[in-house]
Amino acid sequence: MYVVEFASAGVKDDAMNDGIEELASHLGTAERIVFITGAGMSTESGIPDFRSATGLYATGLNEDMFSIDSFTQDPARYYRHGRDFHRCLFQAKPNAGHQAIAALATDMGKDVVVVTQNIDTLHRDAGSPVVHALHGSIETCSCMRCGESTHVSLVERAIRNGIAPRHSACGGIYRPDIVLFGELLPVDVLAEAEQAIGAADLLVVVGTSLVVHPAAALPDSRGDGCILVMLNRTATHLDPEADLVLRGTVGDVLFRAVSGSPSAGHRATGHANEPPALRSGSVSA
Ligand SMILES: [Zn+2]
Repeated sequence: MYVVEFASAGVKDDAMNDGIEELASHLGTAERIVFITGAGMSTESGIPDFRSATGLYATGLNEDMFSIDSFTQDPARYYRHGRDFHRCLFQAKPNAGHQAIAALATDMGKDVVVVTQNIDTLHRDAGSPVVHALHGSIETCSCMRCGESTHVSLVERAIRNGIAPRHSACGGIYRPDIVLFGELLPVDVLAEAEQAIGAADLLVVVGTSLVVHPAAALPDSRGDGCILVMLNRTATHLDPEADLVLRGTVGDVLFRAVSGSPSAGHRATGHANEPPALRSGSVSA
């Protein structure tokens, strides 16, 4: 195992550069790449995680508020208390890491599957073609009375104002199509994720400490020859099994690794070191 640890983006450190180079080399060689991403993927887009010191729970929200029991009992309360969180999700933009992952598929022709625990739509917004959202996403809402599904943009105004949106045709309240506490993960999505991981020759785990099951066991689906890379701010139980462990700023590391991977630029028309889908302005120097 090779652990590379560094404090912040932009630090010119040999070990960090070597680690990023090694990741770039894996990305260049691999044909089928799966990324498993968690909250740490989106914190650089301004979306708070749940459990960290600056996370949602520190602001007075709690697990109960995001439970199916609590939601069913009092949906209005859920929307009232979740207003700021929802606004944050609606406003967030993909960061350099989301864009780097998307560019691997769209600009470098890699077979890339994203398996995410995040309910934001940032991987899709960045352009990643295949995203399995284990916990659903805020992209759609379903009427709790008749089951009708609607795009969130049609009810976004109510949600932004902390008001429970209603289906005009039947009067039922819309729920976000996310997996609330107390609900099971969608089995079809989980099966597709496992299948993709089983076929991968490179698995990169980004921004998740993999403590929540069943997502925590997903890397076990990987095949014998699959390279495992961990990119997190903190240590995880999988680090000892990994071929490469990087600890640092997710967006910066992925951006630099993708920019420097051997296949970067072979279909690019812009700057030689920068895949065209990446906006250099979004990276803090
Ligand atoms: Zn309805």
